[in-house]
Amino acid sequence: MVSSLRYDALQKRWVIIATERQHRPQDFGAGQSITVSREHCPFCAGREQQTPPEIAAIRPLHSEPDTPGWRVRVIENKYPALRISNAVWELGAEGFYETIPGYGAHEVIIEGPDHDKSFIDLPSDLAFDILSMYRERLNVHMDDLRLKYTLIFKNHGATAGASLLHPHSQIIATPVTPRTIRMELMSTLKHFAETNRCMICDMVQKERDEGERIIYDDGTIVAFANYAARFPYELFIAPARHETFYNRENDHTLHCLVNCLKDVLGRLRTLLSDPPYNYIMHSGPNPNAEPIFPGFWKTLEQDYHWHIEIIPRLVKTAGFEWGSGLHINIVQPEQAARFLREVEP
Ligand SMILES: [Zn+2]
Ligand SMILES: [Zn+2]
Repeated sequence: MVSSLRYDALQKRWVIIATERQHRPQDFGAGQSITVSREHCPFCAGREQQTPPEIAAIRPLHSEPDTPGWRVRVIENKYPALRISNAVWELGAEGFYETIPGYGAHEVIIEGPDHDKSFIDLPSDLAFDILSMYRERLNVHMDDLRLKYTLIFKNHGATAGASLLHPHSQIIATPVTPRTIRMELMSTLKHFAETNRCMICDMVQKERDEGERIIYDDGTIVAFANYAARFPYELFIAPARHETFYNRENDHTLHCLVNCLKDVLGRLRTLLSDPPYNYIMHSGPNPNAEPIFPGFWKTLEQDYHWHIEIIPRLVKTAGFEWGSGLHINIVQPEQAARFLREVEP
């Protein structure tokens, strides 16, 4: 069955109804997150035939796709929420409701052939390959004018949503702008209209001036505890110099990002005993996606600034948060930053 997107007009958000993997009611019980052991891991080198075919890879010249020897490998998700082959953008209506077919991409980036080496433990050149593959995939999806947004994210650990322990990240490219991104775009647009400045440049500047929440700053990439963090040890990473699109960054910036991620993820691992976490990359939306609204992205390149959010999954989101969108954070961000600065990466 083809997946679809449905619009919730009350909460102003799109929802993906993905039916690729048929779930029976009993699949939702406790112990649902079964992790596959190394002996059966389809992401390990030598088991390339057990995954969907390779879409892209960093591998030796003249080597065949879906054979060992690769450093980074991109495949379609086995149970994609959206598919590139699905029908094109066409707004349908079920009476009062709005729906569109589930056109889009859902990819997995396998972060190296080694089952047990997380990003922190990888040699820097391999970690760089992963970040440069993010850049390549963003470029590919931005050439598809039917896709409005591409989100790169990582679920580390079973409670963060990972069903395979082998290090990997994912990409979902959507024909709609997701709600969280749209809110960020609207805030930064307004800030620019009022001040002629980028909101995230201002944020980074403020953090550097105060220093209290900074965890890492090499002059190119800055990591700090979010002033209004929703979750304990939630972190924000951004380039110090203004740039809207991650995929326009040069190799130097990516090398600095490797060092920053290894540093802050290492500190989280030491301080919190390898916590499950999610990281999410927010890069600029596709300004050429159709339909184009005249004047819509006029100041995008000045007002939006790519960044990464890291959210350790230390607490469960409960009724109040779900019902209100208001989060209760039990760790003061300044204190989180102090603890993180004090431990070894
Ligand atoms: Zn593996
Ligand atoms: Zn900026």
